Amino acid sequence: MVERAYFDWNATAPLRPQAAAALRDASALTGNPSSVHAEGRAARRAVEEAREQVAALLGARPADVIFTSGGTEANCLALSPAIEVVGDKAPRDRLLISAIEHPSVRAGARFAPEVIEDIPVESDGRVDLTALADAVARAARPLVSIMLANNETGVVQPVAAAAAIVHAAGGLLHVDAVQAAGRIPCDIGALGADLLTLSAHKIGGPKGVGALVRARDDIHFPAPLIRGGGQERGLRAGTENVAGIAGFGAAAAIAREKLADEAAHMLALRKELEAGICAIAPQAVILGAGAERLPNTTLFALAGLKAETAIIAFDLEGIAVSSGAACSSGKVQPSHVLEAMGVSPVLVRSAVRASLGWTTTKADIERFLSAWRKVSSALSKGSKERPGIAA
Ligand code: PLP
Repeated sequence: MVERAYFDWNATAPLRPQAAAALRDASALTGNPSSVHAEGRAARRAVEEAREQVAALLGARPADVIFTSGGTEANCLALSPAIEVVGDKAPRDRLLISAIEHPSVRAGARFAPEVIEDIPVESDGRVDLTALADAVARAARPLVSIMLANNETGVVQPVAAAAAIVHAAGGLLHVDAVQAAGRIPCDIGALGADLLTLSAHKIGGPKGVGALVRARDDIHFPAPLIRGGGQERGLRAGTENVAGIAGFGAAAAIAREKLADEAAHMLALRKELEAGICAIAPQAVILGAGAERLPNTTLFALAGLKAETAIIAFDLEGIAVSSGAACSSGKVQPSHVLEAMGVSPVLVRSAVRASLGWTTTKADIERFLSAWRKVSSALSKGSKERPGIAA
């Protein structure tokens, strides 16, 4: 069997051992966290400990963490026209979102399509702050959603500067920090976010759990997405996913403790990876390289390469990567992120994403590069054998 090397951490990260232990221990708890007896109180303790751990990762208050079924649900809960701030009940009239958001934000949640407006990005992949300032000035009560780091390019967005613009215009800012958490500092106060989304499985917790975190408890959702019992302060009904939440908390605690070390480790390996990619194929382009990026993400393109074919070739060599193109329902579509950056269609079709994590080793990088040598040379052989075929 071919030895595998996993380079798709932005899709999902492996479960951290501490999260696996917390998940196992909490699975053994019998009680419902809403029950008042000892069993119920033990389950409640597991949930509340995790709430403290998740809050600590963001410098937030535990009471402002709302557990959800993941990043997608947290984004959908956040994007509601009916957000109240300090009891101000007038609805938000416009949703402004960057052109490179995750599909769960791009879908606009509970905003009508006609009040959703795209904010363009610059060619380096960063949101255009002048366009943002224009758009917020045109809206009466905007809700703005800008991700902290993009899942495809890893480009870090100027969120604190965006927050100043949004707040000066009386708007609210939601930040999808799903890809940034555990890789760069995500202090909700320093970012100036009013609402922030996290997902457990990108930081080494289990899949199917996440959180929407409020900067202050005067931000209220009078119309939660999931209504029923009073769980999560009435903002998300349903018996809590106790084991998943406990695993999330444990992952957040380790991610916080090891942030600086893991970021340095990933960055050193990514630099080696990118240098190798470009040494083997000098025409290769690192997309978003002109901007600050997450330490673990590289999106590279080589004109003439077909991303879907390259991914299969890498897979056969034991390397898990993904394409810059979003694949939904089996149909590969051009990446809206790269299109928004104005990347040429030839490069968009060839973009391959390699994302690293805390267990990535130097040997993994070497294995990747030896696979890349084969994948890229097969491409140049193929084009020699078929002269005249457009690359
Ligand atoms: N936001 C971003 C930027 C993501 O990359 C993802 C997942 O890929 C999500 C949101 C959705 O998170 P989840 O998988 O927990 O629903």
